[in-house]
Amino acid sequence: MTAQSGRHFLQIPGPTNVPDRVLRAMAQPTIDHRGPDFAELALDLRQRVKPVFGTGGPVVIYPSSGTGAWEAALVNTLSPGDRVLAFETGHFASLWRDMAQRLGLTVDFVPGDWRRGVDPAAVAERLAADTAHGIAAVMVVHNETSTGVTSRIPEIRAAIDDAEHPALLLVDTISSLGSIDYRHDDWGVDVTVGCSQKGLMLPPGLGFNAISDKALAAAPQARLPKSYWDWAPILDANEHGFYPYTPATNLLYGLREALLMLEEEGLRNVFARHSRHAAATRAAVQGWGLEVLCVNEREYSGSLTAVLLGAEHDADKVRRIILDRFDMSLGTGLGKLAGRVFRIGHLGDLNDLTLAGTLTGVQMGLELAGVAVDPAGLQAALSVLKAE
Ligand SMILES: *Cc1c(COP(=O)(O)O)cnc(C)c1O
Repeated sequence: MTAQSGRHFLQIPGPTNVPDRVLRAMAQPTIDHRGPDFAELALDLRQRVKPVFGTGGPVVIYPSSGTGAWEAALVNTLSPGDRVLAFETGHFASLWRDMAQRLGLTVDFVPGDWRRGVDPAAVAERLAADTAHGIAAVMVVHNETSTGVTSRIPEIRAAIDDAEHPALLLVDTISSLGSIDYRHDDWGVDVTVGCSQKGLMLPPGLGFNAISDKALAAAPQARLPKSYWDWAPILDANEHGFYPYTPATNLLYGLREALLMLEEEGLRNVFARHSRHAAATRAAVQGWGLEVLCVNEREYSGSLTAVLLGAEHDADKVRRIILDRFDMSLGTGLGKLAGRVFRIGHLGDLNDLTLAGTLTGVQMGLELAGVAVDPAGLQAALSVLKAE
């Protein structure tokens, strides 16, 4: 590796740039996780983490990746052979489906073209047809990180309610938490799955489950095997500020600092900042004469934009040039989008000039890779940023 001056631009849709404040908070000494100082930290976090999920209920924090928190959501609420309804919105929805199948669940997987979100009408149709109420849960990825498409959770909830169906609603909010408006309680979500390294501006290593009363009540009947992921002993120990195992103490220091930063800016302002940066990014992409992968304006993601290239171009070559020349990482195309798209992450600790620098690097990289782009794209993005 050659020496690089200045900061690396980590513009993938997670992990995201970790603010210096958070890094410094994590550099404190690791303490006794059964002592009084730890209890104070854990009891503070137990409350402080709730607003970011939009919940007044419990949030379990695991030392895990997001994938672990996916598993926790399933094993705490479901039993072997249960039917679940899921939607092929992209790579992450497909991986969660695979996990459900491996755990012994039967998945009704509604096919999709990886360019739009969950169709609430499809939810209504599937649940209306399930008159015997065999479907135990509906699994939705809120913000599909492989495509830059955000599904409309309130409309999905309304479809479940209109069908008068008792299924639990399980939502992956991993790449929307702390960057796109999300309301666990108001939207009637039963389990919300989150993790640390995306909008929460932390390193990887924490997974979250926000849990509704209905999901808590379902848990004792859920017969999928579980031990480490079991909510019950964690919720018990959390009451006194402890965990049934060694928690990720230093990541929890970081979590407190990141939550303080979100509180200081105000969640509404955080969401507005992200949607403004997303709009500027789309202005650049469209100005360049390229295509945003998401085809439904109502489902544009506030946290990342996937850019579709013509079949004659290799998106990974563009990414490679940008990394080599400008020290910036962009997201690769996942699954069947490999080589066809690159993804610009604009979530987490970001300001107007970080985005302007990012888009400048993308434009130069596209030009160097021989992709014909109209340089007016960058100007269009700057106009959005200047506007207000
Ligand atoms: C990143 C991501 C995951 C996986 O999280 P890991 O921490 O890599 O296990 C799952 N779902 C979505 C939507 C994601 O963006």
